[in-house]
Parts: sequence; C-alpha cells; structure tokens
Amino acid sequence: MSLDLPAVIADITASMASMEDRGQVATYIPELATVDPAQFGIAIVTADGRVLTGGDADTGFSIQSVSKVFALTLALGKVGDQLWDRVGREPSGNAFNSITQLEHEQGIPRNPFINAGAIVVADVNLGGHEPRVAIGEMLRFVRYLAGDDSITINEAVAASETATGFRNMALANYMRAFNNVRHPAELVLGSYFHQCAIEMSCRQLALAGRYLMLDGQHPGGGRVISPRRARRINALMLTCGHYDASGDFAFRVGIPGKSGVGGGILAIVPGRAAIAVWSPGLNASGNSCLGTLALEELARRTGWSVFSPP
Ligand code: GLU
Repeated sequence: MSLDLPAVIADITASMASMEDRGQVATYIPELATVDPAQFGIAIVTADGRVLTGGDADTGFSIQSVSKVFALTLALGKVGDQLWDRVGREPSGNAFNSITQLEHEQGIPRNPFINAGAIVVADVNLGGHEPRVAIGEMLRFVRYLAGDDSITINEAVAASETATGFRNMALANYMRAFNNVRHPAELVLGSYFHQCAIEMSCRQLALAGRYLMLDGQHPGGGRVISPRRARRINALMLTCGHYDASGDFAFRVGIPGKSGVGGGILAIVPGRAAIAVWSPGLNASGNSCLGTLALEELARRTGWSVFSPP
C-alpha cells in the first residue's frame, strides 16, 4: 500500500492538538520562557523534493541545540578528523549541561552534542577570529543549507542567554584549564550563544537538513560534506542527539534526531526524508514532549525507523 504522507501529517497534527500534557517550556533562558506552549509544527522534505507541512510549520523558533549539528558539520570541514582528538563520540548518559564527566575525562567532552562538546566545536569554529566572523559564517552556512536568506538570529534570545549562561561559562573555563578551549571563554560563548539563538521555522529547518538525508549532497548541486561524514553525523544524532534520553528516543522513534531546548527536533531518515518538528513544551530530559510523540507516531505510520527493513 502506498504511503499517504499528507494524510499522516494531518492526523498527527490533529492528534497533537488534542494532547493535554505538553510539558514545560524552558525557563533557564528567560527569553524562552515567554514562548506560548500551545504550538506544534511539523515539516517533512522528501528525497524527491516534496515539502509537506502541518500546524505551525512556518512559525520561527529558537533552534538552540539543533544548531550543534550545523556547527559540527562546519568544524569537520575546517579541521577534519582531528576534531575527534578534542571531542568524544559516546553518549554521555548525563544531562545536557553536565560538568561532572569532564573532570574524569581530562576536559574532553563525551560528544559534540552535549553543551561541553558544542563549546569545543564553537572554539574550533572561532579559529582565531572575532565572534562576529564565526557567527556570520554560521548564519551564511545555515541559509545556504536551507536555501533561504531570510533566516536570522534572535538577538533578544542571545542576550538573554549571555546574561544567565553561567554554567556554560563554567564549562568553557573548565575546559580551558585543560587547553581544550583555546580562546577566552566569553568569545567562544559569544559565538555559541548566537549560534543557539538562530531562529528557524520547521520548514526552514527540514530544508536545512536535506544534506544529511542525501549522503552529504546539497540538493541544489555540489557537496556539503562527504558521504562518510554525513553518515557519521547521523550516527551521532541517533546515539547522542537527545542527551540522557538518547537511548529512549532511539528505542521509541528509531530515527537519528537532534533536539534543542527551544522545542525543535531535526530528524533524518537517510535516503528518504528530512523532518523538523517543534513544540516548545519539554519533557524531563529537556526534549520536546509533543515533538517526540509526533516522531514516534510518524515512524510507526511510515515504517521509517532506520531499523525497519526497506
Ligand atoms: N543554548 C542552550 C544551552 O547551552 C542549548 C541547550 C539545548 O538546546 O539543549 O544551554
């Protein structure tokens, strides 16, 4: 039986609208606490270029940690596999902002998708420049991936996190003590907080994720990264993309995904679809409550778990 994707999206959007438990919006970044939790959006871009959407798919939100996927792609382009001397590739089993493992592991973060790892990646991307240069490069990269020059950074969110991000400051300074952060912490975090404050809609985010569905190829022609790197980034999304709930997400959904505390999730079905879901209410692990449920339902209806036979 052929897959009626528009009907699946319509059903999922309707069932999310009737959910009562939507989780809690993040409050530790004060600006994120102002977002209305009663929103849900989904966008799917298929390998043949169709774009299908449901709900609030064109409303912009703070991509937060989803940006770590794009930052990692850029850093691998700059320093290649040398990056892995400074960042591990194992799930952390700890909260996104945990500092404890760093002491035992000599300032080497477990993976590039927890905050500590993303701060090292931001340090690599800074590469001796002013934060505004790295921020400009990141924004241009995301616009190129999405094919959309209207994507911007929400300065109020960046300022809000700059004013309150003491824990990230501690992580950066702690790793600096091990020489695994090589620029002053305030410069690295200036860049990191702006990268997290990029605002995108589900439609824009799904479009930006196409290269990971297409084995590193940009749909407009040319290559963003090699097939090997695209596959490795997808592997890291599956094993490390949801913090200490990464195993549970793989168990329930079975699709590589990266979440952010703004309530967005980018999910990649290699060769088939790039998906973005968004709902600002988070579960206890800091992942979108309805976004996770929607992806679980989508995987069930489509058979898109990467563990399903083709
Ligand atoms: N900017 C956030 C932080 O560093 C990102 C966390 C997230 O989205 O999970 O705390």
